[in-house]
Amino acid sequence: MSDASRKFLIGLLLLLGAGAAIGWFYDHAVWGLLVAALLALSWQVRQLLSFDRALRTGNFDDFRYGEGIWEQIFSRFRFEHDRAARRKQNYRMLLREVRKSTNAMPDGAVILDANNEIITCNRAAKQLAGLKRKKDRGQRVDNILRDPGLTHLLKSGDHKSTIEIMSPVNVGDWLDCRVVPYGADQKLLLLRDVTERIRLTKIRRDFVANASHELRSPLTIISGYLDAIADDEGKPESWAKPVSQMQTQAGRMRRMLAELLELSRLESAGTATSDQPVDVLGLIESTTQALEGHANVARMIIDAGSSAKLQGNSAEIETVIVNLLSNAIRFTPADGEITVSWHSGSDGADLIVADSGEGIDPEHIPRLTERFFRVDKGRSRDDGGVGLGLAIVKHVLARHDAELLVTSEAGTGSVFRCHFPVDRVVVEPPIPLAGGS
Ligand code: ADP
Repeated sequence: MSDASRKFLIGLLLLLGAGAAIGWFYDHAVWGLLVAALLALSWQVRQLLSFDRALRTGNFDDFRYGEGIWEQIFSRFRFEHDRAARRKQNYRMLLREVRKSTNAMPDGAVILDANNEIITCNRAAKQLAGLKRKKDRGQRVDNILRDPGLTHLLKSGDHKSTIEIMSPVNVGDWLDCRVVPYGADQKLLLLRDVTERIRLTKIRRDFVANASHELRSPLTIISGYLDAIADDEGKPESWAKPVSQMQTQAGRMRRMLAELLELSRLESAGTATSDQPVDVLGLIESTTQALEGHANVARMIIDAGSSAKLQGNSAEIETVIVNLLSNAIRFTPADGEITVSWHSGSDGADLIVADSGEGIDPEHIPRLTERFFRVDKGRSRDDGGVGLGLAIVKHVLARHDAELLVTSEAGTGSVFRCHFPVDRVVVEPPIPLAGGS
C-alpha cells in the first residue's frame, strides 16, 4: 500500500472516529458517525466531479490537483495524459515526414486493402495515374486503372512479376506496375514511368526489323548469283570450294534474317490466341517423324502422357518443338536418347524435351535464351546454329503465358521444360459410347 493510500485510510478513520466521538459527546454517536461519513463522501464526490470536468474539457492546466489520494490519482493521470499527447505528437511528426518522403518519391505508391480498395497514395501516383488521395479513397484501384493485366496481377497474388499498362493521364506514356505485400493483408501498388525504356526498345526492335528486311533483297540477289556460278560447268576448278562456302554462309545469313524478323514479330505481338485448340501431341508426332529420318540422329521416344490440347498458335508451338528437338539432336550423339513428353495436370501442362547428350554447364543456363548466345560459338556455327532458336522459344512461350525451365548437367544431358498454365489447357471430354442408355 502506498503512503498516500495509508494516509487516506488513516484520515478517513480519524474523521469517522472524530464524528462518532463528537456524536457520542452529545449522546448521538450514530448521527455523529453519519455526519462524518457524509462529509467524507461529499469531499470524494467533489474530487470526482472535478476529475470528470478535466476529462471532459481536456484542460488539465486549470485543474485543481486534489488532495490526499486524489492528488496521487490526478498527478498519475496527468503524467500519462501528457505522455500520450507527446507520443501522439511524435507519431504525427513521423507521419508527416513519411508522407513528405513518399511524396518526394518519383515512383507512384498506392496502399491497397485486402479488396484492392485504395487506402491512400502519394503525389507521384496522382501525377502518373491520376489517382486522387481523398476522392478515390475506398474505390477499387482496378476500377480506376482499367487494364485486364493489372486486374489479373492483383488477383494472382504474384509479387514478383511486373506488367506494363498505358497511362490513363498522359496518352502514349507507359507505367510499369508491381504489387508488393504490405502489413497484415494490405498491398502496395508501385507505379513507375517506363515510357523512355519502351520507346528505346521500340526503336531497337524497329531498327532490327527494318535492317533485316532491307538486307533480304541484296542477299537474295547474291545467293542467286552464287547458285548460278555454282551450277556453271565452265567455272574454274579453284572456284568450287569458295563458292560452296559462300553459299553455306549466305544460307546462314538468310536463316539469321528470317529468325530476326520472326523475333521482331513475336516481340511486338500480344498474347497468342487461336480459333482451334492446338493438338500438341500431333505436332510432336509429325515433327519427330520428319526429323528421325536424318542420318546420325539419336533414338527418339514419345511419351504421350496426355491428349490435352492447348489454347494458342499452332505454327508457333510447332516452332518451339522443332527448335528444342533439333537442338537435342545436334547436341546428342547417335547412340544417345531423346524423349519428347506431353503431360497435363491440375497445375497446367508440360512439353518436355530431354536428351542424354553433352549437357550444359550450370553457369551458362541463365544465358541460353539471350540472342546469339552459344556455349561453344565455333562449334554451333559449324553445325548451322545461329543462336536465336531459344530466344524465339522464350518469346513464343511468353506469348502463351508459359515459361521455359532448363535443367542440365555437363556430360549427362539436358531437360528443356515448357510449362503452360492451366487456363491454356483444353481437356476434351471423352466421346460418349454409341447406344449407351
Ligand atoms: P543455336 O542456333 O546455337 O542452337 P539456340 O538459341 O537454339 O541457338 O541455343 C543456344 C545454345 O544453347 C546453343 O548454341 C548450345 O550451346 C546450347 N544448347 C541448346 N540446346 C542444347 C542441348 N539440348 N544440349 C546442349 N546444349 C544446348
